[in-house]
Formats: sequence, C-alpha cells, structure tokens
Amino acid sequence: NGQFALKRAKRSGRIEVYQPGEAGRARRRFSLETELRRAIEADQLDLAFQPLVDLETRTISGFETLARWNHPDRGAIPPIEFITVAEESGLILPLGRWVIDRAVETLASWDRQAGGPLPIYFSINVSAVQLARDSVASAVADALRRHDLPGDRITLELTESSIVADPDRASDMLDALKALSCRIAMDDFGTGYSSLAYLQRLPIDVLKIDRQFVSAMFDDKDSTAIIRAILSLANALGMTTIAEGIETANAAHLLAALGATTGQGYHFAKPMPAAQAFQHLVGRKAA
Ligand code: C2E
Ligand code: MG
Ligand code: MG
Ligand code: MG
Repeated sequence: NGQFALKRAKRSGRIEVYQPGEAGRARRRFSLETELRRAIEADQLDLAFQPLVDLETRTISGFETLARWNHPDRGAIPPIEFITVAEESGLILPLGRWVIDRAVETLASWDRQAGGPLPIYFSINVSAVQLARDSVASAVADALRRHDLPGDRITLELTESSIVADPDRASDMLDALKALSCRIAMDDFGTGYSSLAYLQRLPIDVLKIDRQFVSAMFDDKDSTAIIRAILSLANALGMTTIAEGIETANAAHLLAALGATTGQGYHFAKPMPAAQAFQHLVGRKAA
C-alpha cells in the first residue's frame, strides 16, 4: 500500500528515504497499521488464555491473557509483530483498552458459568507505551465496574522498560492499580535494563522469570545460577515467581525444587481460545 506510505510521509512533513528491502518492510508496516486499526474497530482481535500452574499442587492458579490477530488473508500475525506496530502507531491505546475489557469480561463470564467466583486470576499484559500514554488504572477500574469483578482477580504484567521510561509516572500508576487491589507482575524479568532499586521502591508482587533462562537451564550452568538468584531475590522481597517457557517435565521438576511458585509453558498447556481454556480448567477440577 504505497499510497498510504506516501500520505503518511506528507502528513508528517518528512521525506522518507528507504533502503532497498526496507521499502517492502515499510509497506507491510503501513498496511498492517491500517488493517490493525480496522481490525480493532471491527472487533476482529481475540484473546488466548494460557494456564499459570502452581508448581507444588499442580493446580491452575490463573491464566495469562495473550492478544491474537487472525488476519482474514494473511492468517495469524504474531503478537510480537502487531504489538510493535500498535506501539509505534499509538493503536496500542485502543488495543490495550480492548484487551483489558475483554479479559475482565471473560473472567466475569467464567464465574457466572461456574456459578460463583473461580479461585483463579487473569494476568494481563500492559505495554510500556500504554503505561506512558494512557490511564491504565482508570481503564482497569472501568472494566471492573462494567463487569462487576473485584480487582484482586486481575494481575497486570509490566516490563522493565515501562518503569525505566518514566519511574515517577510508573510509580503513580502502580499505586493506582494497587488501590484497586490488583497485583503487579514484572514480565520477562532479567532481560531488561531496570535497576534493582525499583523492585524495592515499587509495589511489585510477582517476578516472571524470562523464558530464555528457563530454556537454557539444562545446557548452561549460568542460567540456573541466574534463576536461583532471581528466586532468592523474590523470596527476600516477599514476591512470588512465575517461571515462563517450561517445555519439559524435567524443567517443571527442577523449578519446583528450586522454589519457583508458579510455572507457565507448553509442558502444561499452550495458549487456548476462551471456551477451550474454560473447559481445560473445569475439566481438571472435576478430575
Ligand atoms: P509475554 O508476555 O512474555 O508472553 C509469553 C509468551 O511466551 C507468549 O507468546 C506465549 O505464547 C509464549 N510461551 C508460553 N509458553 C511457552 C513455551 O513453553 N515455549 C515457548 N517457546 N513459548 C511460550 P505470544 O503469545 O506470542 O506473545 C508474545 C509477546 O507479545 C508477549 O510476551 C507480550 O510481550 C506480547 N503480547 C501478547 N499479548 C499482548 C497484549 O495483550 N498486550 C501487550 N501489551 N502485549 C502482548
Ligand atoms: Mg506477559
Ligand atoms: Mg513474559
Ligand atoms: Mg517472555
């Protein structure tokens, strides 16, 4: 969609020069942006739900909600790609609000189907751009009110970059979320550039150990050492932990032995559509 690229360039008043090869990528980027805007308006995005499993009892303690875009022509677009487009275009604001509302709505409807509050929470991803530019706390408050769900059923996953970008703003936003009784998780912990001082200053409840350490655990002593250090840090600061990317029974056993609270990964379950995730949850409970 070259026309769109040209219009954008005119509007921004800049002359855009692309290297060969970059032009194709830029075109895809611009048309993805237009189509993503339409997809949000037409309610064509979806959420997938991946179990968060208590490593001791092996029961499901919650689900991470993950955005999905199944493009009518191009098929499934990876989140890493459309979330980046959304962040660069500002579409992350409506997208982020949609994700929050849909997640809260889904959990409220699962409770109704179950005939009462389920003993689980949903963990919702919040982008650094969203935290910097939108009132995430009021979006969450609106959704909780609209769907009549208490805040303690919701965890917000932030990345280290959200905090580094504007620590004071992040701190105010986290306080506002805590005032709603929501919990705060630090996603992909150990991969960003934040200072450990933030862990002490900010009301963070959960550290999510990044998949890169978990997947390297058996090949690389250093990854195990880093995991031990994160677990001991979390323990000392009174935080719980979620180990991401658990793909094998061995990894699940080792992480449980090391003291990780919760596990997430293909070994337990892949992200699933809402109806399937609900069945997975209630089926297990009955079994
Ligand atoms: P994340 O928040 O760290 O989410 C975990 C990612 O790891 C998900 O990828 C999940 O499908 C994947 N995963 C889980 N278990 C395993 C495993 O055992 N092995 C492997 N190889 N992967 C595993 P997904 O769904 O592709 O999402 C990628 C990233 O996109 C997320 O990373 C998050 O940063 C972003 N994202 C997804 N949904 C949203 C959203 O609603 N809002 C925002 N702001 N970002 C989102
Ligand atoms: Mg996450
Ligand atoms: Mg993560
Ligand atoms: Mg990760």
